[in-house]
Amino acid sequence: MQNYDDKQEKTLVLVKPDGVQRGLIGEAIRRYEQSGLKLVAIKMAIPSKDKALTHYSVDPEWAFKTGTKSIEAWKAKGLTPPTEDPIELAEGVRQQLVTFLSSGPVVAMVWQGMNAIGVIRKITGGTEPLTSVPGTIRGDYTIDSYRAADTDHRAVRNIIHASGSVEEANKEIAIWFTPEEVLNYRLVSEAIIYDTNLDGILD
Ligand code: GDP
Ligand code: MG
Repeated sequence: MQNYDDKQEKTLVLVKPDGVQRGLIGEAIRRYEQSGLKLVAIKMAIPSKDKALTHYSVDPEWAFKTGTKSIEAWKAKGLTPPTEDPIELAEGVRQQLVTFLSSGPVVAMVWQGMNAIGVIRKITGGTEPLTSVPGTIRGDYTIDSYRAADTDHRAVRNIIHASGSVEEANKEIAIWFTPEEVLNYRLVSEAIIYDTNLDGILD
């Protein structure tokens, strides 16, 4: 196992309440599992509002970016945004996300493997369902848009949450799992994915 990339990289995935209600738990797991990544933790839970707030403890850069994007989107529609302050607007989005995440059961998972964060986000697809590309989970199974969500004052229904960086993943895994719940084991299939020496395939 001499590859350069970190094969221990971990990422948190949530099948959000819309994914559970639409029967997409199995489909999401199938796609992630077939990539070659390893499932190392899984549970079903109904998140409390507190837990959802902790999960969406927003970093200021995200708040500014999302708030600005949203204000521009309101204006592009010829509408007046509820506020001109990006941070205040992002706080509104955050509250909607919290309401949404705590509205019913979710499935939380930790996936591990080389470039796990990037691979999971590739399979999951872009954030807004309207523009997430076919072949991804969000592209294939969702039709929602920011416009529809904003108009109805609700979170966009995009089925999956997936960590966006190593820092985010470490923080989020600790919110959903104890260290003991994240298993350390080897899959036989890791040999064909990672091992340099394939002696033993032919005997
Ligand atoms: P993700 O990592 O692809 O889920 O996207 P982000 O981390 O940027 O955002 C977290 C969540 O906030 C997304 O899954 C969306 O539900 C929501 N969100 C992000 N950007 C916007 C936006 O511009 N408008 C609205 N209404 N929701 C957004
Ligand atoms: Mg994110």
